[in-house]
Amino acid sequence: MTDRIHLSKADITEVEEEFVLAALRSGWVAPLGPDVDAFEREVAERVGVRHALALASGTAALHLALLDLGARPGTAVVLPSMTFAASANAVAYTGAETVFVDCQVEDGNVDPDLLIEAVDTLRAEGTQVVAAMTVDLFGRACDYDQIESDLEARGVPLVEDAAESLGATYRGRPAGSFGAAAALSFNGNKIMTTSGGGMLLSDDSRLIEHARKLSTQAREPVPWYEHTEVGYNYRMSNILAALGRGQLTRLDRMIQRRHSIRRRYVEALADLPLRFLGVRPERGDESDNCWLTTAVIESDRIDVNDVLADLEGRGIEARHLWKPMHLQPVYTSGRFFGSTHGESLFRRGLTLPSGSALTDDDIDTVIAALRDALISLR
Ligand SMILES: *Cc1c(COP(=O)(O)O)cnc(C)c1O
Repeated sequence: MTDRIHLSKADITEVEEEFVLAALRSGWVAPLGPDVDAFEREVAERVGVRHALALASGTAALHLALLDLGARPGTAVVLPSMTFAASANAVAYTGAETVFVDCQVEDGNVDPDLLIEAVDTLRAEGTQVVAAMTVDLFGRACDYDQIESDLEARGVPLVEDAAESLGATYRGRPAGSFGAAAALSFNGNKIMTTSGGGMLLSDDSRLIEHARKLSTQAREPVPWYEHTEVGYNYRMSNILAALGRGQLTRLDRMIQRRHSIRRRYVEALADLPLRFLGVRPERGDESDNCWLTTAVIESDRIDVNDVLADLEGRGIEARHLWKPMHLQPVYTSGRFFGSTHGESLFRRGLTLPSGSALTDDDIDTVIAALRDALISLR
């Protein structure tokens, strides 16, 4: 029995060990320290933004961005339905209303026309839309040409949830550089990890400094503990920032590896009733980071649950796509603009093992298993 093949396991080498050990030995074990500062600078430079704030999670980064933009009860935030719950939870923490928007079938990213329709409808009804959020799903940037210009024309700030898309670009611009602020995640299964962590990015120094203050219990700059607003304990520790700096030195190689895994799947499974998301539309996947390779089963006779159970039985971790937020019991009361695109991707889609630490043998095992499963279920 070989080891289980995971979806997206952390890819850690001696490089990271050295960074973490050096941080431990430096004595900077507390949150804050030279590795946090350096990590913020290095990520900001990589993404091409002026300011960065290292945090305990990507969810925290979204939460602080939304708070700064004025999200609170009585306001609304428009966001994609096809996403991980963290995008919606960050809105819910602020008390603002979550308004969900359907996706495009080609790649699962938000439909830009629907996003604007939702913004316009809410505003016509007199609701204050404090932000629109995009999510660069599975490592593929949204169609920002249209989204940016439409939102700018209406004066609605954009928050980019780039938790899945570090290293991806859109027309040469890095994911994480769009909108008023963007959030990255360094959770264990993301394209690079600090075990748990995130970062808020922005060109706006005022926004970042406000978020920095909120992230450290909103302490005022006086000698005693003085507080005029409610704060949070959201900072990243220096040890974890050191891990992130090690990972950052290997980011390009890890992305290349995910690309080659994607190509292997697409080529080897071309004859099966599978449509790989984001691979064959007009805009190909060359500028994606290929965080996860996802496919939709294009046969009514094959149930994705059976395929996933079959793979599970062979020790392969594959998963459903995100279940859309407007179908989640906790969010069904939220408004939704769209039809059944996200729902049908969820009903027929699956996410394949895509981690950069997977070997060619692992991928061949997945390919053979998927081929068996799809042929036996056909
Ligand atoms: C992972 C993820 C997050 C949350 O990041 P954490 O660091 O786990 O808090 C937010 N949004 C999306 C789309 C994600 O995939």
